[in-house]
Amino acid sequence: MSSAVEQFDAVVVGARIAGCATSVALAERGLRVLTIDSARFPSDTLSTHLLWPTTMAEIQAIGALPAVEAIGAPRMPLAEAVLDDIGWRTGYSAVSGIDYAMCVRRTHLDDALVRTARHTGAEVRERCTAHDLVWNAGRVVGLRYTDDDGAEHEIRAPVVIGADGRKSLVAEQVGARTPTLVAPSGRACYYAYWSDSRTDLRHIASQWRTGSLLGTAFPCDGGDLLCLLQPPVDLISEFRGRRAQDAYVHGVHSLPGLSRRLDGCEMVSRVRGCTGIESYFRRSSGPGWALPGDAGHFKDPVTAQGIRDGLRYGRLLGEALAPVLSARTGVDPRAVDDATAAWAAGRERDCIDVYQWTNVLAAGSPPSPVEYELYRQAQQDPEYAAVLSDIYNRVQRPAKMMPITTIAGAVVRALRQPDIGIADVAGDLGFQQLRVVRDWQERRRFLRAALTATSQRASMVPQVSRPTLDGVTEIREGSHT
Ligand SMILES: Cc1cc2nc3c(=O)[nH]c(=O)nc-3n(C[C@H](O)[C@H](O)[C@H](O)COP(=O)(O)OP(=O)(O)OC[C@H]3O[C@@H](n4cnc5c(N)ncnc54)[C@H](O)[C@@H]3O)c2cc1C
Repeated sequence: MSSAVEQFDAVVVGARIAGCATSVALAERGLRVLTIDSARFPSDTLSTHLLWPTTMAEIQAIGALPAVEAIGAPRMPLAEAVLDDIGWRTGYSAVSGIDYAMCVRRTHLDDALVRTARHTGAEVRERCTAHDLVWNAGRVVGLRYTDDDGAEHEIRAPVVIGADGRKSLVAEQVGARTPTLVAPSGRACYYAYWSDSRTDLRHIASQWRTGSLLGTAFPCDGGDLLCLLQPPVDLISEFRGRRAQDAYVHGVHSLPGLSRRLDGCEMVSRVRGCTGIESYFRRSSGPGWALPGDAGHFKDPVTAQGIRDGLRYGRLLGEALAPVLSARTGVDPRAVDDATAAWAAGRERDCIDVYQWTNVLAAGSPPSPVEYELYRQAQQDPEYAAVLSDIYNRVQRPAKMMPITTIAGAVVRALRQPDIGIADVAGDLGFQQLRVVRDWQERRRFLRAALTATSQRASMVPQVSRPTLDGVTEIREGSHT
């Protein structure tokens, strides 16, 4: 082990989306932040990368917009969604002055974020892997990591931030890996890049659905098109091993609109797959630690919200911690924990309905009769179409998709369709109602449990002595509960 134990105001594990946002928010307020990542940047990761206007606004909020724009992805002011042959196309409401989406490869996006974090003053150490948290009297007070040369280092800080993704080591070591709420996805993800010959369509982010199949095409940097296929999980066996590429090509051509979009385009990458996806919330704060980004909360990629939420709640975590960590009277551990607990509760309140809406789309079920009518309504009513694009853009809440008047209209129209029986519509309506009630119950249980945990913490947390650089004597490994 390297002999000198270093002290920082905060140490962040993970230097991609959430890690950089937290690091920037802390560093630009004058705090000493160390951010480590086992990757060497520029580095890719298993993720597509559609960035809604709200996501672009978060990139702007941390000062990374010029660097991200410079990567050269086209601006996409239009969203399009097509179910069979029923489709709508619309713009977005501006968020912080931004009314366009972008699709930027993670290799370049994450590199731009790392450069921004460094520029702001955060110290980012690459090829460094955290392996142990350091504990003192039931509180996380630092971590140990190994660098590229195999040397071990120890860092002390009043707070350790686990921005280390879905397989989070920090979540594991604080005992928060088991989710407090979880929903297995009914879809898998397979994606590849295509050279894009359609210069006339490079301003549109598109989604197509036919039966249970869902596919998207997003023009991205490098003149390419990112094409993601999300089949239901019962088709996964068709994608195993060497068959993946053929199954993917067959899948994208089973969506007639997507197949037409790919006309004249050539696949220029291998197919990457992601299966076994689960959406979840984990307990995301505790004595001396917090989990922004996927480490604490993940939603199926079908609604492309992860980067936005990683940036936003990463930034908000940094903003909440900064005054506490820079208090003139010294860092009060209890104030640190209060700040992280309030931040975590805020994210749960903000994100639960988007999580539930995502789970509906991620179920992998074929569209219902009422859903067809909602697409028809959006096709005919530009205002309703704009509401739908703004749900993805987080300007509208998911409940706006199905207000009672819209549902009533959709039911009446569904009943007028010659090929749909009353029983089908009644069954669909019953299912939708049941889902609304179940979601409401789940939301209430989840938020109540979170509130109870927060108030219990407030009454239990003892005043502990401030962690110090030289407080080596009291360090106990794994003394967490
Ligand atoms: C298939 C797929 C498609 C997606 N598509 C989209 C999309 O189109 N739009 C969107 O908004 N979101 C999308 N998402 C979600 C998005 O990828 C995540 O929400 C986002 O990457 C979360 O960022 P993060 O910083 O929390 O974690 P990550 O991006 O996972 O970064 C975690 C970092 O922590 C580092 N790390 C982990 N452990 C250690 C350790 N012990 N020591 C040091 N470093 C460590 C890793 O090296 C990594 O760099 C998709 C996700 C998937 C799986």
